[in-house]
Amino acid sequence: EDKVMSDLEIAHNAAILPIEEIAQRAGINVDALELYGPYKAKIDVGKLVLLAGKAPGKVVLVSAMSPTPAGEGKSTTTVGLADSLARAGHKVMIALREPSLGPILGMKGGATGGGYSQVLPMDDINLHFTGDFHAITSANNALMALVDNHIFQGNQLGIDPRRMTFKRVLDMNDRALREVVIGLGGPAQGVPRQDGFDITVASEIMAVFCLATDLDDLRSRLGRITFGYTYDRAPVTVADLGVQGALTMLLKDAIKPNLVQTIAGTPALVHGGPFANIAHGCNSLIATRTAMQLADIVVTEAGFGADLGAEKYMDIKARIADVAPSAVVVVATIRALKMQGGVPKERLSEPNVDAMATGVENLRRHVRNVAKFGITPVVSINKFATDTPEELEWLLAWCAAEGVEAAVADVWGRGGGGDGGDELAAKVATALGAESDFHHLYSLDLPVEDKIRTIVQEIYGADGVEFSVPALKRLAEIEKNGWSGLPVCMAKTQYSFTDDASRLGAPKGFRVHVRDLIPKTGAGFIVALTGAVMTMPGLPKEPAAMRMDVDADGNPTGLF
Ligand code: ADP
Repeated sequence: EDKVMSDLEIAHNAAILPIEEIAQRAGINVDALELYGPYKAKIDVGKLVLLAGKAPGKVVLVSAMSPTPAGEGKSTTTVGLADSLARAGHKVMIALREPSLGPILGMKGGATGGGYSQVLPMDDINLHFTGDFHAITSANNALMALVDNHIFQGNQLGIDPRRMTFKRVLDMNDRALREVVIGLGGPAQGVPRQDGFDITVASEIMAVFCLATDLDDLRSRLGRITFGYTYDRAPVTVADLGVQGALTMLLKDAIKPNLVQTIAGTPALVHGGPFANIAHGCNSLIATRTAMQLADIVVTEAGFGADLGAEKYMDIKARIADVAPSAVVVVATIRALKMQGGVPKERLSEPNVDAMATGVENLRRHVRNVAKFGITPVVSINKFATDTPEELEWLLAWCAAEGVEAAVADVWGRGGGGDGGDELAAKVATALGAESDFHHLYSLDLPVEDKIRTIVQEIYGADGVEFSVPALKRLAEIEKNGWSGLPVCMAKTQYSFTDDASRLGAPKGFRVHVRDLIPKTGAGFIVALTGAVMTMPGLPKEPAAMRMDVDADGNPTGLF
């Protein structure tokens, strides 16, 4: 019996093509390409020579049921599905997020797919890649250094150091930095104030980066960021400080999408990377649109379950530009169904159709939620070696009874370049050909509290929402400052439809607790913090980092 190879071993054994060849396949002219070594390139979209009269590519959005802590295989499915569509003769491009170092060193693993459905070079992409997160972190922290310097130098704007809403960031899970005090040490060291760190993927700069339509729009959005309030409680923006130009300069190269390839040689843009539980959860708008200009089908992923990433894709990203999906894939796994049915983590690989029958209520709610946006989803069953034929048959029969198209995809084991995703690709191609009637879940004219109520009732299945006293004050402030027309970005645990990670399945009879609201006026949404969700994660007791190393030649080991 052969030993199962790790994702990293498979990636290292794969044949990788020079990135110029991938660019040529994608229809990218050489002078739009900026090489970062032999296998990565940035695309200067301003220099792209596009086919005249080409219709924009159709978007397939890959989402999922509520995940287990290991992830259900959305990235793997995104890559495998795209490879399978390419195998069937379609002109395809992938748009994916860049991985964050926090979860890589923590527990979730990389974000470049898995098995025979990965983007390459996987170790590069999972580590420092082309430096985009460095640039975003630097822009964020430059802003904070400039703000604290402004306060130190006399505080002409009257910024109230007790009412700052913007924090410093780091691309790391580091709970020790959640609450810090800065400026200690006497008059020469600055003005002391309470501060804190978020993870880079939760930074508003990341959101702005991912929602900007071009460099000019990036500068305007950066200028509109509210980082705090004055002593008179008036919002203070980056434009008040006059540093939007400097921040844009720090991001001028990062904003160009990164071109890489899958194991099967499908072109992929990997660009931007907000988390979907604490931010809006999809790759950059520029990458999605560039892929739509170049290909006929764009396969893209939105983070965590369809209650988070997909809802935000539809209600935030798809309002800024015409990137609405023509088809949605909901990834389900047998193990996630069992977990949703109450089976403990250690026993997920044992056959248990009874637990699946309970847990499938979670999938049902996600599938029906997607239909509320006017799109009937396709369920992709991500096959694991431990799944039994009875379990897979049971789920296929359930999907048929629910009236939703479904396919078992073995893109992890056989690759989309092999035949592992042929059936899924055929069903998705059919779905792309069908009429869809896309619409947003809520109108922007609704007051912010009603937008939140609509999301928690329609998508989470809650009875209603409860606002804390500080959140109620924020609502009044939002109204006063004229921000009521913004969409909402829910910050909620990915493990449950409720704000309590331990409530599995499809709970009923609950309310969602909004403890604070943070206006992100540059990104253009209001973040609603629910339950105990954190914008700076911590590391687990046995971090994945303990298994990592490099060999004598500098090749990483233990990177999943
Ligand atoms: P998501 O995008 O939903 O978070 P990923 O595609 O990143 O999930 O997959 C999470 C992890 O699970 C990866 O390490 C991947 O290799 C592994 N994985 C995904 N699908 C399978 C499968 N069918 N069998 C075994 N491992 C898998």
